Amino acid sequence: MNTVRIPKVINFGEDALGNTTYPDNALIVTTAPPPLSDKWIKKMGIKDYMLFDKVTPEPSINDVNQVISEYKDKNPSVLIGLGGGSSMDVVKYAAPEMKKSKILIPTTFGTGAEMTTYCVLKFDGKKKLLREDRFLADMAVVDSYFMDGTPKQIVNNSVCDALAQASEGHDSKLGNELTRMFCKEAFDRLYDAIMNDRPQDYPYGSMLSGIGFGNCSTTLGHALSYVFSNEGVPHGYSLSSCTTIAHKFNNSPFYERFKECMEKLGFERMDLKADVAEAAAVVMTDKGHLDPNPKPVTEQDVIQCLNDIKAYNL
Ligand SMILES: [Zn+2]
Repeated sequence: MNTVRIPKVINFGEDALGNTTYPDNALIVTTAPPPLSDKWIKKMGIKDYMLFDKVTPEPSINDVNQVISEYKDKNPSVLIGLGGGSSMDVVKYAAPEMKKSKILIPTTFGTGAEMTTYCVLKFDGKKKLLREDRFLADMAVVDSYFMDGTPKQIVNNSVCDALAQASEGHDSKLGNELTRMFCKEAFDRLYDAIMNDRPQDYPYGSMLSGIGFGNCSTTLGHALSYVFSNEGVPHGYSLSSCTTIAHKFNNSPFYERFKECMEKLGFERMDLKADVAEAAAVVMTDKGHLDPNPKPVTEQDVIQCLNDIKAYNL
């Protein structure tokens, strides 16, 4: 048997943000400061709401507990996570604790987090990746409105993540015919949007990617990428080379087109400061990404991939 979980309601497309009806007395949770959150809230057309805008970037369970203790007695109708991953992660955890439903509205795209059962929070100062059914949104609202004014490099990093997640997810051993359908459609849409300069189509492709990989997994490309992230390379950027070399290693049907997109987006060579053998040993501990890889991966394979990335031999 296969199981695929998606939010009960997905509002997307032109002016999804303004055309969605939000219940009265909702609690909006965001990291954004007032000038920005005011603008977003106005665009949502929501009048009767409470606002918690003190979520810290890379939030911890303390942020969740603060929301619960401040608002439990005010009995909000629903929790709305409005922002990037941080705001959504706090709502993903807090809403079920408060026995409330949740609406997720991503203001950045790429991770597809609004579609997934993943939640990243710090516990005792350490980031933990949690995955539970209760973290799934009751409603997700996806609108390309938020892309206005986002710097091009950030947009490129985000679409690279979405493209990597779609294609790694497609090839994952944990996938099934339905996840593969979402992943393939996501990849095709994103490929088209990238090659034809239509960034406004990225959020929809990223949403499809989230449904696809969120119900299976990513693989070798993501496993390789974290040693670069540890040296400060943005997640999306690190995937430009890591997923390309992983697709080459796996003989993925996406290899050529993925590489073509990376060239079009203008990603360049990345260096690795850490010793390759030591980095490879770290990569090998990432069973969550390596076990579902379509081909078995040895430490020697990882060393080869890292050397190829460093030499830009993709
Ligand atoms: Zn990713």
